[in-house]
Amino acid sequence: MDLQACYVIIGGGIAGVSCAETLTTLTNESILLISGSDVVKVTRNVNQLTEALTQFDVEDQSASEFESTFPGLAVSTGVTVVTLNPELRELKLSDGRVARYEKGVCLCVGASPKTLDGAESAENLVFTLRDMESVASLIEKLKDARKVAVVGNGGIATELVYTLKGVQDMVWVVRDKHISAAFVDPGAAQFFINSGGLTEAGQKKGATVIKRLTYQSQNGTKKECQGAALGPDWHTKFKVEGPNGDKMPNIHIEYETEVKRIIKRGETGFPAELNNWPVVLELTNKSLIGCDLVVNAIGVLPNCKMFDGVLDMASPEQGSGIKVDKAMRTSADGVFAAGDVIFANWMKEKHWFQMRLWTQARQMGCQAARAMAVPSSVSMFDFSFEMFAHVTKFFGFKVVLLGLYNGQKMNPGDWEALLRVTPGKEFIKLVIANGKVQGAVLIGETELEETCENLILNQLDVSALGDDLLNPDIDIEDYFD
Ligand code: FAD
Repeated sequence: MDLQACYVIIGGGIAGVSCAETLTTLTNESILLISGSDVVKVTRNVNQLTEALTQFDVEDQSASEFESTFPGLAVSTGVTVVTLNPELRELKLSDGRVARYEKGVCLCVGASPKTLDGAESAENLVFTLRDMESVASLIEKLKDARKVAVVGNGGIATELVYTLKGVQDMVWVVRDKHISAAFVDPGAAQFFINSGGLTEAGQKKGATVIKRLTYQSQNGTKKECQGAALGPDWHTKFKVEGPNGDKMPNIHIEYETEVKRIIKRGETGFPAELNNWPVVLELTNKSLIGCDLVVNAIGVLPNCKMFDGVLDMASPEQGSGIKVDKAMRTSADGVFAAGDVIFANWMKEKHWFQMRLWTQARQMGCQAARAMAVPSSVSMFDFSFEMFAHVTKFFGFKVVLLGLYNGQKMNPGDWEALLRVTPGKEFIKLVIANGKVQGAVLIGETELEETCENLILNQLDVSALGDDLLNPDIDIEDYFD
């Protein structure tokens, strides 16, 4: 039987679920959530650290339990959307049915990992982390692994290098001059290395308490599409270990290089001298790395192909994705989109930029719901998009990123960095331009989040303070009161 609702949401990740939850608070009309996976991602324990900075847990919840929490909400799982017809307000589903929406649809179908050249032929030796199932298959494969190569330099690779233990050797292939380049600069990267974050990681991990609920997929059949992306702290839920238990691997980092090709033993071009490895990475710096398995974490591409020709899209140079305005409206009437699948196509505030993160997926899902249910509210100011704000954990340290924390949107000569570093304890970087703070990286328990946020938003001239801005004996908040 075909499906019908006043509002339809596609996707059970953070964006889709936040959109559905918010809609239930704004309307009594029927809401239908359609998701490829039968487990949805819900946010819990939302903690507003500052006005802009929100910390929360992400839990898996069975779709049926999620549905029963909200009267008026129906959830349909195990089926995917194949096409959209905005004129008819219809979606074609993979099982042949049609889903119709009356007032609006919100597309929250996420993104998929980019692939490495040669990865297809080395299928069982190359792993891409995206959802719970991909982590489970990596863990299975790790049981016999001696050496693992991790490719990528974003949050996922950084978390994995910190988490993975019990193999003898690990090679981390990064295309930048320093590790974790998507989030931190060379100074902060060095702080992690000097603080023993890389080598002591194994000792710190054992104590983690796992608090989240996990529901396995109830559907044993082949999946039509991947599940929702893993949420923050995913690594605390799994023992990502090789045969040597919690022993830390020897970590070697290959800087400023990329994978040119993956060659499986037996394939043409496989180097004979590395015959004791099942797979070899050929790097652009000409190095050849033999290993037992490869973890690919080189980033994601929005799942928007099915809407090509129907909605306006950003180019690959722009970062791909469905173009939306600040109210999450796409180019078609009644069609909204949120989360990893979108490209933020509005005049952005000076200190905000898009990054495919769960924080933004949640903000966008809520924003789309407001715009769908109360169209008159769309012009209202939304603080979420005023300033980039993200909190995470790398190598066991709390990491807070605010505003233009890496000098984004500015020319290199136009800003300077003020640093305070206590090895093993904290790393503070303020990005300053024209005497005003534009961004901040706060690693460790610095308790400077609120002050930095205010300095960025208020654009107070701090030049009179000079280097004392970060003098631990001066209380900056008192100074500006
Ligand atoms: P997704 O979570 O990808 O959800 C998409 C949903 O759409 C899924 O339910 C899927 O089944 C469904 N779907 C897809 N196609 C269809 C279709 N055609 N029809 C119907 N349903 C469909 N972010 C952080 O901020 N901090 C972190 O520490 C962090 N770590 C990460 C670690 C890993 C390993 C990964 C993979 C990502 C991480 N991220 C992190 C990124 C973050 O998880 C994503 O930005 C966020 O989850 C995106 O949410 P979303 O709802 O837009 O998409």
